[in-house]
Amino acid sequence: MTFDLNNLLRENIKKLVPYSSARDEFKGEASTFLDANENSFGSPLTKWYNRYPDPLQIKVKEKLASIKGVPIENIFLGNGSDECIDVLMRAFCEPGVDNILICPPTYGMYQVSANINDVNIKKVPLTPAFQLNMPAIEEAIDDNTKIIFLCSPNNPTGNSLDRDDIEVILNNYSGIVVIDEAYINFSRFRSFTQELADYPNLVILQTLSKAWGLAALRVGMAFASQEIIQVMNKIKPPYNINQASQELTLQALEEVGQVNDMIREIVAQRDILAKDLLTIPSVQKIYPSDANFLLVQVTNPKAMYNYLLEKGIVVRDRSSVELCAGCLRITVGTPAENVSVVNAIKNWKPVS
Ligand code: PMP
Repeated sequence: MTFDLNNLLRENIKKLVPYSSARDEFKGEASTFLDANENSFGSPLTKWYNRYPDPLQIKVKEKLASIKGVPIENIFLGNGSDECIDVLMRAFCEPGVDNILICPPTYGMYQVSANINDVNIKKVPLTPAFQLNMPAIEEAIDDNTKIIFLCSPNNPTGNSLDRDDIEVILNNYSGIVVIDEAYINFSRFRSFTQELADYPNLVILQTLSKAWGLAALRVGMAFASQEIIQVMNKIKPPYNINQASQELTLQALEEVGQVNDMIREIVAQRDILAKDLLTIPSVQKIYPSDANFLLVQVTNPKAMYNYLLEKGIVVRDRSSVELCAGCLRITVGTPAENVSVVNAIKNWKPVS
């Protein structure tokens, strides 16, 4: 395959002059900042937050670089990985002309983001074993297919995609391959982050919303070649990660050990939850999970979903999703939360 980044970009993005501020050029020390129309008097908060944050989040990226073993030039931060998805769409897909390829059932934002950007969508469903349908993918790709989104571990099925298949796509497809690794910390399989140098077309997405427990901060990561990261930086809103998020993220990134303990606990709880649910007659099947949730096939999912809601327990009804007939998606919670969902389902009496 020949990968030509410049050729893949939309014409307007090739020509784009990005927003710049006086502080982009300014590298030294200064005592007086009167360049950005901020309020020098302060703010109603004790800690002021009156200055714009670092647009490139260098301190956060330096810390992430050491944790992930990826140079900072290869890291982009988005307002959640949802923003990374949107930025990629805007970089590569000409509205009304280009398409992305997705493999449902999968994460919903690829489709929503494509719809928002008026980008066409090619859908190649996963096989019944929730793996990539390689011949159908090959068949579906055309000259306007700019991005393939692969979610591994996949939401909502919970399984990882076969690494060999992903590598075949990376090696043979000349567009962008996004591997969404939102759930990688819960997986038995390793991330693709150490493979970046081998694949100029690879973009890996990760997030602090899952294993790190920081969904409210809205910090998502994209790892890719320096050239792709530069394009993403040109397109993003200038201050997309706010100061409070940057500070709290830096603080949290000091606690790798604590996060690893939580991950181990969540994985252990996942196995307990699966085992407990399987003892209940209305639970028909639990799919193997590499993530922090279980795809659970039950008798009469809609009635069970509503019954759980009445009990104050919210799960995700995926029963209308292709290949997920009869399924609820249940996030692994604390031991107490898991016991409460198991007990509620145990006590459920389906009306016949
Ligand atoms: N990718 C996948 C596969 C997800 O399931 C989610 C969240 N449900 C996201 C990305 C979005 O994560 P973020 O909070 O970083 O926007």
